Amino acid sequence: MHSIRLTFPNGCRKAVTLSYDDGKESDRKMIQLMNTYGLKGTFNLSAEKFSQKGSFLDYIEAKEVAALYNGHEVACHTYNHATTTLLPKQELISEILANRTVLENLVHYPVRGFAYPMGVFSEEVKNTLAVCGLDYARTTRTTNRFDLPNDLFEWSATCHHNEDLMERTNAFILRDRPTVLSLFYLWGHSYEFEEQNNWALFEAFCKKISGQKDIWFATNIEIVDYLEAFRRLYFAADNSFVVNPSNVAVSLLVNENSLISVDANETVFLNGVVCSTEGLEETPI
Ligand SMILES: [Zn+2]
Repeated sequence: MHSIRLTFPNGCRKAVTLSYDDGKESDRKMIQLMNTYGLKGTFNLSAEKFSQKGSFLDYIEAKEVAALYNGHEVACHTYNHATTTLLPKQELISEILANRTVLENLVHYPVRGFAYPMGVFSEEVKNTLAVCGLDYARTTRTTNRFDLPNDLFEWSATCHHNEDLMERTNAFILRDRPTVLSLFYLWGHSYEFEEQNNWALFEAFCKKISGQKDIWFATNIEIVDYLEAFRRLYFAADNSFVVNPSNVAVSLLVNENSLISVDANETVFLNGVVCSTEGLEETPI
């Protein structure tokens, strides 16, 4: 029987994702740096705040959302940044759906992620988010670990950027755990770099991490969709073939030495023949 293990795309064993909140104008500089270095992230926005004056920096404008966050993920806070556990349930639902509706009309894709404003949540809130069509939610807790999430509605970051970022970055780079998949999940607010005058820290992080070849840079939802695509694979009882019914290609390590990609809507026979919707082709396994 073939042994099969999930890897990140292209056989990567490590992934990096960012999650930044509130949508203030400092996101422009942050995204410019992320794009320069090829990092990907998720930005949690409250639509009612667009164009408002902020206590430190102002909020971005609705009209710039689609272009500014292009290539990254737009996700939800509550509509006006209300704390989830302080609202009647129907108001929480309308806060989430109103926010999703405005954001989706700007970016033209389903907005499926959430970050708990002030980090506050409960089991009831988690259930309500799922009912409102969301697929994951980030807390403000940090784990100082590089684990994949157990509970997608209680997804905690590795660290905030003010928590020994470069030490943790070095630890992640040096981490040598070939039998597990490791995720470095960074969170914060871009205005904090402006407030604390430490953009150099963020650029040093981008530069250091982007120089690594074995890392998959992804948005939060890309990680969620990738893990879900793996979960949905159908394997033969003896692992002799695998069917991918999803629209996300999944990379698998076979017998600890052959990397294969099971593409969208494809069946891969591990005796060496690929049967796809385009026809049959040989693959070296
Ligand atoms: Zn916030």
